Amino acid sequence: MTHLARKVSLVGAGPGDPELLTIKAQRLVREADMVLHDDLVCASILALSRPRACVINVGKRCGAKGVTQAEINERMIEAARRGLAVVRLHGGDPAIFGRLGEEIDALQAAEVPFEVIPGITAGSAAAAALGVSLTDRRKSSRVILVSGHRATKTAPYARTDWKEVAREDATLVIYMPGNNFAPLSEELLAAGLAPEIPAVIVSHASTRRQQHRRATLGTLDHLPPMDSPAVLLVGRSLDRALPQVRDQVSLALEEAELTVSSC
Ligand code: SAH
Repeated sequence: MTHLARKVSLVGAGPGDPELLTIKAQRLVREADMVLHDDLVCASILALSRPRACVINVGKRCGAKGVTQAEINERMIEAARRGLAVVRLHGGDPAIFGRLGEEIDALQAAEVPFEVIPGITAGSAAAAALGVSLTDRRKSSRVILVSGHRATKTAPYARTDWKEVAREDATLVIYMPGNNFAPLSEELLAAGLAPEIPAVIVSHASTRRQQHRRATLGTLDHLPPMDSPAVLLVGRSLDRALPQVRDQVSLALEEAELTVSSC
């Protein structure tokens, strides 16, 4: 009966702002019978689903037990075989640090058809928030997307080898950066990168809770802990990053003071 299975949609929900959802993603969520979503997908996007749709949080932070990847795969396959319209809704882009590969493998093995709908990834949203370009032909000819830690079957929490990605002509976009930046800073400096290279951490990019803090490779370990989710951007293309929120607030205060004093 596998040939009767309905197509599963593996969909990117973007970084948080519902207006950054693609029109296709919006339609699929509206039409879905079942939505299996990550923690990071916001409530206003889930609210697009039909009242009778089955909406399930399969994120890692969901409950003490959480839902395993095998369970997510099983649920998608079983529902698609029952003829339900299934949307697997990933935060950001499903193809970036999202276990999309494992889901595709499982669907293919079960002969369930699928489609992938890309979404705006957190790194793009963070760059947009800062008013910078990730590539810039004057400063950065490549973008390296990397996770702050490496998860493989043999080494689930191994540290990333920062020397591998240390390049003067690159913008590093570090997902899941954690809060301990000392090893990252030490290794990138030891690999020859200059201490004045800018580094900016952006948390909750594209949402009302968005915040960022600027540092340089040399002062990276002074960055305060930031709320999760956050991405860390490093590279000369960050030279033009907008002032951090605190600067903006103090600027606004200064302007207000000026207005008051000139009355
Ligand atoms: N597929 C997602 C990434 C999933 S991994 C994407 O393409 O964006 C989860 C990590 O993404 C978080 O730990 C954080 O590093 C980053 N992230 C996701 N949403 C974010 C946001 N709104 N602001 C900053 N970082 C975010």
